[in-house]
Amino acid sequence: MRIAPLLSNFIKPFGIYKNNQNEYSSYNTTVKTFGLKQDIFVKEPSFTSIKGGTDFKNLVDTKKLHCIYCGRPLLSAKVLNKLKTNGVFSDSIKNFVQQMLNYTEYLHPAEKEFVKKTAILAFDYPNIRLSETIKKLFPQAYKELLNEQKPVFKELATLVNEMPRGYKTKFKELLKISKYKIEEKEYIPQKFSGKEFRYKMSRIEDTLKDEYMAKKINKLSEPLIHPIMRKEKEPLTQKFINDILFLTETRDINSINWTKKDLELLIINKIKQYGEILNRKDILYLCDSAQKTIEGKPVKVKFSNKSFKYDLNTILEGMPDIQLRQKIDSIVSKLPNSLTSVNAFIIKHELAASDAIGYDLLRPSVATIEHMVPRSLGGASKLNNYALACSRDNNMRSDTDLKEFIKKFDKKNQIKYFADIFEEVYNWNISMDTAEEMLETFMYESGRQISLPKTYSKTAPRKQNNKIINKCKKRRK
Ligand SMILES: [Zn+2]
Repeated sequence: MRIAPLLSNFIKPFGIYKNNQNEYSSYNTTVKTFGLKQDIFVKEPSFTSIKGGTDFKNLVDTKKLHCIYCGRPLLSAKVLNKLKTNGVFSDSIKNFVQQMLNYTEYLHPAEKEFVKKTAILAFDYPNIRLSETIKKLFPQAYKELLNEQKPVFKELATLVNEMPRGYKTKFKELLKISKYKIEEKEYIPQKFSGKEFRYKMSRIEDTLKDEYMAKKINKLSEPLIHPIMRKEKEPLTQKFINDILFLTETRDINSINWTKKDLELLIINKIKQYGEILNRKDILYLCDSAQKTIEGKPVKVKFSNKSFKYDLNTILEGMPDIQLRQKIDSIVSKLPNSLTSVNAFIIKHELAASDAIGYDLLRPSVATIEHMVPRSLGGASKLNNYALACSRDNNMRSDTDLKEFIKKFDKKNQIKYFADIFEEVYNWNISMDTAEEMLETFMYESGRQISLPKTYSKTAPRKQNNKIINKCKKRRK
């Protein structure tokens, strides 16, 4: 008999407390369990459980939702973290493979191939761990990857002579350095990038079981991207120096005339000490090459598609020949990466700890909030501008125009995605208004028309088209 008071509470505020959703959100789940759905409330539910991006993303903890782009199932970040903290990734490969069978739907082709290779290896070496698996697979994978990469670079090299003045030398230099990298040869890098170091370190931090240490390392690398460090002409301040001395627990405070180089080395040395405590080769490797780069000594740097593309973009910025640019991009897109080539996956993880390898297998599938209108273009951080996308596609899109980016993906993925979103309207998670606005934003930004099954349009009559467009235009400003 407790239903009645609850119900009356629930019905009364309709329209009255519309802006006071938090107060009533707790009724939401209760009502749902009594099966009171659709007919009475569905037209305009005032109480929905999803208030912002975090709630939206957390939907995947309990629901099977799919990426708006690639249509692959989205993995809950909580599940990934649990696997890491439960030690699934650092277990023997026999146990690891067994556990992984529950997650194969999240794996990309190269990752599936890697798990398969691991499973085969587990017949002979059931008790080794993932990091040792990589070592066993490395020699073969290295040879094969070189064979995959070389033709791409050969093709790029044929374009050197087509490059306009001012771009040619830099392009040639990049190809030369890339060759050193893919052949794992030493070379003298030009400049240390604190930004790149911090980015790479943050990827490692994610994979650390010891969150306290991860935070400490993160804090330590923070000054490396401070404006004082980034801008050559910016002078050092005593406060900045003191902060770093404090962070790195350096005692002989007044003995040296600190330079930026000294401070960078101090920070990296401290991180390295943590890497030793944690017994993480990936941290030590990253610190070692950073130290050598700062000191101007030759280093061996692993080739990474990501930094190659980043460097290429920097070099080609503003190049007038758009056709040539497209030609380059289409060649570069043929480079094997850790999702398309099992060899690239193995090489990338040469020094990685077992936890990091396991984490990387599933991380690309983790659900992230995608801003349909990118933040950099003034897109609001509001539900009506949000979509759920896998971490991989979200990273890949970055600020690319949605009209351009969406071309790579099948429209049926988006139909499925929005069918799921509208399903959540009936589950009291998303309001009909919000769901409609999400769909409108998507259609306007992508230029794709999505028609939903009739059941949805019945309760949600489409608004006037020009009204929608005006609304989206406004949002874009
Ligand atoms: Zn995706």
